[in-house]
Amino acid sequence: MLTKRFSHIYLEDDVRNTETARRICAKFPGAQQIRIRHYKDVFCRKRQDFCLQKLAPKLIIAKKRPPLVYPGSTNCDSFESNHFYYTSSMMNCLYDCEYCYLKGMYPSANLVVFVNHEEIFEEIDRKLESHPVYLCVSYDTDLLSFEAITGFVDLWIAFCEDRPDLLLEIRTKAAFIRPFLTRPPLENVIIAWSLSPEYVIRNHERGTPGLAARLKSIKRVMELGWPVRICIDPVLFIDNWDRIYQEFLDEVFLNLAGDQLASVSIGAFRISKGYLKRARRRYPCSRILHYPFELNRNGVYCYPPFLEDKILGDLAQRVARFVPTEKIRLFTSSTP
Ligand code: SF4
Repeated sequence: MLTKRFSHIYLEDDVRNTETARRICAKFPGAQQIRIRHYKDVFCRKRQDFCLQKLAPKLIIAKKRPPLVYPGSTNCDSFESNHFYYTSSMMNCLYDCEYCYLKGMYPSANLVVFVNHEEIFEEIDRKLESHPVYLCVSYDTDLLSFEAITGFVDLWIAFCEDRPDLLLEIRTKAAFIRPFLTRPPLENVIIAWSLSPEYVIRNHERGTPGLAARLKSIKRVMELGWPVRICIDPVLFIDNWDRIYQEFLDEVFLNLAGDQLASVSIGAFRISKGYLKRARRRYPCSRILHYPFELNRNGVYCYPPFLEDKILGDLAQRVARFVPTEKIRLFTSSTP
């Protein structure tokens, strides 16, 4: 019933002749190319079927227009940086996690790739003239999962090489690690790997690599000297939570040396009111999304406070058996 993934590529006139756009298009030799004026003409159309698009997304190649860099969200950990920002070289994700806030954030499940990264680099350089920068480059997407197509992670690493005041976070669930094998490790590039129990991966993180594959990749890049942060975020309250997360932690720390990690982040499930409403409408059968969450004073849906405290507290205690406590960070739904 559906065409194949990336059977069509929509190309903005402003960037269709750039070297990066051509390089990406060359990865899909059979795709039909369609010229467009602005990515929003396709991405923001009314009455799109998000769920069907998710099964066979199309690619949109576009130019990122200002703002190129945004202040970091209060729903994310700033790691005490006064200059916390994020930027998106892509919108939407190759993976399909049931609990992902993108399901309620965008009008379309098609992937947008912005190819004018040089302009984003220039904007970062302007910020660096006045202060250090903590920058997350893999929010609203999983940049590493699409690296074989874009090469953007490699470009970001090269950009960091002579900019010690720039601290970069690359968040991922991917197992693809080529950019970290071909360059020497950098202290100012943190790879933040999201991990979940295998049960959660199989049932709620469609398309993502299994836990064993992720752990194998993490182990390899740690051996090479790259800083790695483990993100157990979001923690999901599922049947047999206790046993499933205990077995998960045992497996993680059987494979990884906890004291060698840069940090471990443990985050409660949280999603803004508007995103949850739209995601629930799109996915009426999702047990995860239809849990009776409570709305907190920040307009964020989360587990009831007693439950959130229990699951985060229990997990932090168990992680502390393997990781020095000063490296463990809890991010609750009410963390400012
Ligand atoms: S990997 Fe992250 S961005 Fe991608 S679908 Fe899963 S939660 Fe969303």
